[in-house]
Amino acid sequence: MKPPGKKLLACLTAALLFLLAGCSGGHSDITGVFYADNEPVSVTIRDGKILAVKKILRLPEERAGLIVAPGFIDNQVNGFAGISFTFGGGELTADGVRKATLELWKTGVTTYLPTLTTNSHELLLKNFTILGEVIDDPGLLGTIPGFHLEGPFISPADGYRGAHPLRYVRKPDWSEFTELNKAARNRIIEVTLAPETEGAMDFISKCRENGIIVGLGHHNADAATVYEAIDHGARIATHLGNGCANMINRHLNPLWPQLADSRLMISIIGDGFHLNPEEIRVFYRIKGPEKTIITSDVTSYAALPPGKFTNVEGDTLELTPEGMVRYPAQNVLAGSASPIKKGIANVMDVTGCSLEEAVNMASRNPAELYGFKDRGSLEPGKRADLVLFRLQHGEIVVEKTIVAGKVVYDKHDDQE
Ligand SMILES: [Zn+2]
Repeated sequence: MKPPGKKLLACLTAALLFLLAGCSGGHSDITGVFYADNEPVSVTIRDGKILAVKKILRLPEERAGLIVAPGFIDNQVNGFAGISFTFGGGELTADGVRKATLELWKTGVTTYLPTLTTNSHELLLKNFTILGEVIDDPGLLGTIPGFHLEGPFISPADGYRGAHPLRYVRKPDWSEFTELNKAARNRIIEVTLAPETEGAMDFISKCRENGIIVGLGHHNADAATVYEAIDHGARIATHLGNGCANMINRHLNPLWPQLADSRLMISIIGDGFHLNPEEIRVFYRIKGPEKTIITSDVTSYAALPPGKFTNVEGDTLELTPEGMVRYPAQNVLAGSASPIKKGIANVMDVTGCSLEEAVNMASRNPAELYGFKDRGSLEPGKRADLVLFRLQHGEIVVEKTIVAGKVVYDKHDDQE
């Protein structure tokens, strides 16, 4: 009996040491090419945080061209890899959230906002409850700092409403929102709404008082209303150029005032389908690398094979082989199937911005908007949220993702 007992003890000791090492986060150095200046760098990680970022003389050959950057922050994730945060007949589960997170990590995302769109109060309440219960799950490593509610307080007009179901579009209602936010453990950190709807200005003021970011989206507000909404505290135009009718008045449309007011940030869907290169170039030239956020608006159709799908509302959606999600009944797009990394590469391509600027638009800028002081850049004291990738043929190829100091994705493990 003695030897097995001893063995067991040795095993337990080893396991304990392993756990302790895991808990303390250990101490590790990540080397690569720094995203901001293309110089070799070593990032020291301890206890899940960045301890130091030091220039080094050279990199081993196999790490040449391996870029190290802050992990991507995606502020509009409707779902991923078959998991939807709104649709799905209320079948969202904690395991589904874990699965979506795992799949997003593979694309370099280290922080994201599950985004719930226009639906019945009951369904939103149910799904926010599930999300509220799972948000602080230690296994998620703080990847989800909060939620984004896009709708239901948007324009009912065709085109502006996009693929949001008309029967659930309603006027801003603070008491309904409070109930949803309570279910979400007060972690709804952004609401996208239409400022021309009745009661919107009061709603925006209340959001500001409660530290909730207001995005303007799916609206047809005139210039005066846009400026009034910004005065009340609106901070960003959500996916500018989308959530807009195909035919608009050339003088009077919601694009001009949102571009003209320099207080307003914008988010853009950079997947190559939602905006033409000229739109991205013009938006970027006006708002610049400080006030532009790249978002994905990615849906559950990401990482699925092309085909036609019927959602629980009975609407037919089509995922094309090129990765476009169409809603043929309204001739609009119904979100995207491309993770944020595709948008980052595409925005670089069409604007000619630097890698540093492109990464900042998908990491530093959203962190600043939401007040995430612990992430969005590679500096001592920040969370060790890192992505290592190569730029190959205009694409970002993720090799490794690290969240709070833990390697959550390694391409080489994936291939074994
Ligand atoms: Zn939208």
